[in-house]
Amino acid sequence: MRVPFLDLKRLNAAHDAGIRAGIERVLQSGWYVLGQEVAAFEQEFAAYCGTRHCIGVADGLDALTLILRAYGIGPGDEVLVPSNTFIATWLAVSAVGATPVPVEPRAATHNLDPDRLQAAITPRTRAVMPVHLYGQPCEMDAIQAVAQAHGLKVIEDAAQAHGARWRGRRAGALGDAAGFSFYPGKNLGALGDGGAITTDDDELAERLRLLRNYGSTVKYRHEVQGVNSRLDEMQAAVLRAKLPALDADNAARAQVAAWYDELLGGADLVRPAVAPGADPVWHLYVVRTPRRAEVQAALTAAGIGHLVHYPTACHQQPAYARSDGTVWPALPIAEAFQHEVLSLPMAPYLSRGDVEQVAGVLRAVLG
Ligand SMILES: *Cc1c(COP(=O)(O)O)cnc(C)c1O
Repeated sequence: MRVPFLDLKRLNAAHDAGIRAGIERVLQSGWYVLGQEVAAFEQEFAAYCGTRHCIGVADGLDALTLILRAYGIGPGDEVLVPSNTFIATWLAVSAVGATPVPVEPRAATHNLDPDRLQAAITPRTRAVMPVHLYGQPCEMDAIQAVAQAHGLKVIEDAAQAHGARWRGRRAGALGDAAGFSFYPGKNLGALGDGGAITTDDDELAERLRLLRNYGSTVKYRHEVQGVNSRLDEMQAAVLRAKLPALDADNAARAQVAAWYDELLGGADLVRPAVAPGADPVWHLYVVRTPRRAEVQAALTAAGIGHLVHYPTACHQQPAYARSDGTVWPALPIAEAFQHEVLSLPMAPYLSRGDVEQVAGVLRAVLG
């Protein structure tokens, strides 16, 4: 393939020496779960995000689920979620027995539209979960204002936004708590599953440390009925090796996005718009075109990788089919996006020449 969508081997090769040294350290330590590497990574990632606490967990879905659980959100409660997101956002809400209530995005940014929040709030609403989709931070001032007026918790889904900034502050420090994923393809990715929660809330952090480890901080004493959801030492060591380069990697992604903007300038498609105040980290570069199938065929023929994030809106997934005869409200923006969004190759190592190849194919199809 001339330009793969994402080459993880190449991405991690840039961190090879540090990753190997980290793995060797863990191997030699003889301590593989909840040890020094996790403790050190938690400190380093909290410092990076600008929060008091970071709690390593097994993955991004668990991070979101455990935050909801630690806040006591459950059956009978409603949580506002974007209508266009990866399904994990919704699954976290469902996992604690609460009800996900979809809110449509602003078309330009693909992010939760703060102007639509008010209408979705009921006496049962407990929290809002803004997703910094594709690496662009949501309009957090407006979201916070609505949340504060209604006493809602703000739980960031920051799984695609490691390092993104809203008015100078990092994703992870923009709400009451945030869930991160370190799935290999994320901006900060492990060599397997991993996740973390960031927060300034001391009490929440303490509860989360209990919950993730069988409800225990003292061995064989169990304060609550917790779960096993821990970031392991090996993954923490890998993440520690990669974290110092995250800003440089994100800057390289921003350069790639700028090349796409420049080289796709004349093409008949919708390029990603950035809200004033937002400093995205370009987890994905997503364009929209009603002629997506043609573009996809041309990219494939040219040996260029491409994906769709996401081909089916959450409310139309079989997992969210309603068995009680009621129907989801119409969500026309999310429903239109699933037919038009197209993710182009995006990685820190892409060259201007790579981007020229991709843009050339799009311009040939779309003029
Ligand atoms: C990746 C992702 C998650 C879930 O992370 P996992 O580590 O795969 O569980 C949640 N939300 C969004 C928006 C994601 O992209």
